[in-house]
Amino acid sequence: MAHTCIHWFRKGLRLHDNPALMSALKDCKELYPVFVLDPFLYNDTMGLNRWRFLIGSLRDLDCSLKKLNSRLFVVRGKPGDVFPRLFKKWGVTKLTYEYDTEPYSLSRDQNVTQLAKENGVEVIYKVSHTLFDINRIIEENNGKPPLTYNRMQSIVSSLGPPKKPIPAPTTDDMNDVSCPSSKDEEKNGIPTLDELGHDISSLTEELFPGGEEEALRRLDEHMKKSQWVCNFEKPQTSPNSLMPSTTVLSPYVTFGCLSARTFWWKLTEVYQGKKHSAPPVSLHGQLLWREFFYTASVGIPNFNQMKDNPVCTQVDWDTNPEFLAAWREARTGFPFIDAIMTQLRSEGWIHHLARHAVACFLTRGDLWINWVEGQKVFEDLLLDGDWALNAGNWQWLSASAFFHQFFRVYSPVAFGKKTDKNGDYIKKYLPLLKKFPPQYIYEPWKAPRSVQQAAGCIIGKDYPKPIVEHDDVRKKNIQRMKLAYAKRPPAQSESPSKKQGGKRKAPSVVDTLNKKAKSK
Ligand code: FAD
Repeated sequence: MAHTCIHWFRKGLRLHDNPALMSALKDCKELYPVFVLDPFLYNDTMGLNRWRFLIGSLRDLDCSLKKLNSRLFVVRGKPGDVFPRLFKKWGVTKLTYEYDTEPYSLSRDQNVTQLAKENGVEVIYKVSHTLFDINRIIEENNGKPPLTYNRMQSIVSSLGPPKKPIPAPTTDDMNDVSCPSSKDEEKNGIPTLDELGHDISSLTEELFPGGEEEALRRLDEHMKKSQWVCNFEKPQTSPNSLMPSTTVLSPYVTFGCLSARTFWWKLTEVYQGKKHSAPPVSLHGQLLWREFFYTASVGIPNFNQMKDNPVCTQVDWDTNPEFLAAWREARTGFPFIDAIMTQLRSEGWIHHLARHAVACFLTRGDLWINWVEGQKVFEDLLLDGDWALNAGNWQWLSASAFFHQFFRVYSPVAFGKKTDKNGDYIKKYLPLLKKFPPQYIYEPWKAPRSVQQAAGCIIGKDYPKPIVEHDDVRKKNIQRMKLAYAKRPPAQSESPSKKQGGKRKAPSVVDTLNKKAKSK
């Protein structure tokens, strides 16, 4: 029987390496590509830059579908309300989507799968957001997520290389498919930011436009620099270069404009026959970090919170709204930290080590604020804000899980100087400080009054004094961290290798979903 099919785009905003979309086209007579503007995910807290990236990606997807004589239908509402309506209205018999491991997505998909069943709609989902099927990694590790990168590497190597990406559908694949492109054209088009009620006057230049076409163009551009790719070692890149020193492909991977498997296999092609760096520091290694945190997020309950998260050290963080606001709004009085937060707010992307600096500063380093608060700010402001990667990296940086050397604290002054003595990065993002001589630019409060006057910026009046005395709070915080570590239950204190044993089944919600929908 030929199907009337909805392919539901959520992440995976692309045509290439989209196995669920390809299964939608099998025995298909009518195709409806749909994106749902779910108010739970897309709401007022989501930053404007992220909104712009999403809308750009949807526009690009619509354009590519139009080249196949199809289009994208953007529907507003809760998926649980939207789908039963669409199933009936369009006479749908099949629903396809890319598998998503986030807890909200799992319960959402479970609900929609149930509604599909009630409406006689077959559901097919495919794994293509990650390199591997995350549940396979957990199974392979006796039902538990690997808690160290080494362990992760050994599990992954036992699985063999990731699947090769599949090509995008062509007009040939669409031969027998009718695409009711004119239906509801007006109502379900791509909304503009204006129509969605956003004030776009604060937007700055769009440095990273959303969309698959842009993602593949950027990937190609990077892959042409084969020597750079082969020599890439993450710790050697710089948090404060004026041009990004890493790929900035993360927003594209997060929204699925770029398939992680395509990225992986392009790297493999570049590496072929050449001497190249290796995980954890290589670009392959970066993609494995992504896989590592995804696996942890699936296998560890309450992964995005401290409470009831079994791997997370319980710390008596302070509640300090003033400190949190100063950090978020780039008013800490430490130019390196404030420049990074300014870049984040205006451009939506900051380098990995810059994330290290501000995350350590907010938590165990200086302000002693719960990492969960920082996670929320990143989630809204980062173009690449990703549930699993954000939670995992914040736990790492706050020494709450995975990383335990809490006595190693980044200095908000010395760290940035290593790669930018002159303070050019600070001058770019905090032009107020641009006339300070290099010796004072990281610590302008130390400049004599005459120097401050000559620079046209009086500290305490035009730019804040440091919010804390770094050397004092660093020592105090290390002691507080020692106390928190002393109270850790034995399960958290034992070595990761001991924790790997024991059989446990994969999380039950995944089981339920697997039973309800069919993965071919
Ligand atoms: P590249 O160095 O070019 O790496 C290539 C790809 O590998 C990236 O695009 C990304 O998909 C992946 N990757 C690289 N580093 C990591 C890492 N440490 N963990 C997981 N995947 C990685 N990354 C996100 O994509 N979303 C987030 O919400 C996020 N939150 C973070 C929060 C904190 C506190 C920290 C310290 C890091 C966070 N990261 C997050 C990880 C990392 O900083 C970014 O993935 C990276 O900086 C993106 O830049 P890039 O694409 O140039 O990376």
